[in-house]
Amino acid sequence: GQCSQVCPVGAITERNECIEVLRQLDSKKKILVVSTAPAIRTALAEEFNAEPDFDFTGKMVAGLRKLGFDYVFDTNFSADLTIMEEGTELINRLNEGGKFPMFTSCCPGWINMVEKSYPELRENLSTCKSPQQMIGAVIKSYFAKKINAKPEDIIHVSVMPCTAKKGEAKRPEFAKNGVPDIDHVITTRELMTLLKLKKVNPAELQNEKYDSPLGTGSSAGNLFGVTGGVMEAAVRTAQIITGVENPIPLGELKAVRGLEGIKAANVPLKTKDGKDVNVRAAVVSGGANIQKFLEKIKNKEVEFDFVEMMMCPGGCINGGGQPKSADPSIVIKKMERMYTMDKQATLRLSHENQDVQQLYKEFLKEPNGHLSHELLHTHYNDRSKAIQDMSLHQK
Ligand code: SF4
Repeated sequence: GQCSQVCPVGAITERNECIEVLRQLDSKKKILVVSTAPAIRTALAEEFNAEPDFDFTGKMVAGLRKLGFDYVFDTNFSADLTIMEEGTELINRLNEGGKFPMFTSCCPGWINMVEKSYPELRENLSTCKSPQQMIGAVIKSYFAKKINAKPEDIIHVSVMPCTAKKGEAKRPEFAKNGVPDIDHVITTRELMTLLKLKKVNPAELQNEKYDSPLGTGSSAGNLFGVTGGVMEAAVRTAQIITGVENPIPLGELKAVRGLEGIKAANVPLKTKDGKDVNVRAAVVSGGANIQKFLEKIKNKEVEFDFVEMMMCPGGCINGGGQPKSADPSIVIKKMERMYTMDKQATLRLSHENQDVQQLYKEFLKEPNGHLSHELLHTHYNDRSKAIQDMSLHQK
């Protein structure tokens, strides 16, 4: 197979990690845990030609278990957890002050861009780790404790639509005592390779369910895979938590749906003393659109309070680690699939996720609390200088 893939969002060549993962699967020396991003199930559904309204999640889970993983967990779980943490952070900034606009922080392509080209915006970023890193931290702490294992006994493989996620997982701040929260990140394409090598065809398997306690995800969390989805999930929960009288009905925040590069919506929220506030929300996807948008903010042509940023046009369904397709409408099909999954779901609100509620009750105690800050939040570095030095060096 291919040895390396070129990252579409940076000049880095990302390494294929199939061999290491295969070795772990074959040796069975460690406890093997896998977690799957929202955009993986939609990509596999298209790869295996599932009907547009067929939810492929159960087949994907069965396929991963057949590959030999001991625990199959859902990154949608930690997308819901992100909503709890990021929603609380937004509400706190509205009540107590803080940098605005607040930017989402789940896309490492965007984080890299801020650190390298817009370091002055670091404080505008949410301090929340991405869902990948949140579930990584929870697996090596809360879950490890639950099964009486040491963090180093667990190998956690994260399946992502994204090559930039590989670099994210390797950041030194995402390891504790030399043990990384994520051991390997494989792309959807690499997962397809593993399935082929091991002769596992998920389409032929019976549906299976995710493992507990990190296997429940809402369809709001699943929407993280498409542009506008983080915003939609955040608005759903923030409107209810702050007690907005007439919250926007589920699926009706249409202004943030669709594939346009820059979208905007007004979202009513309440402050803690009961005052109505209008949150000016924007959703931007694609590197060129992000630059255009930031320019407008800088020139004060537009003003926003909360902005979702995704480096890939259309969001993670169109990520650089997704299978190549000759179908020009593939991104639209995946997007429609996301919306259909949301419509068909019974759990559509992040704060109603019982696994997330359980995690707070047993372990974290409260969103943005002490332990949450330690495990689920991060900081950003100014890397603009390093880039300048590098280009001087190259001259
Ligand atoms: Fe990765 Fe692209 Fe998704 Fe960002 S938008 S997390 S770069 S796949």
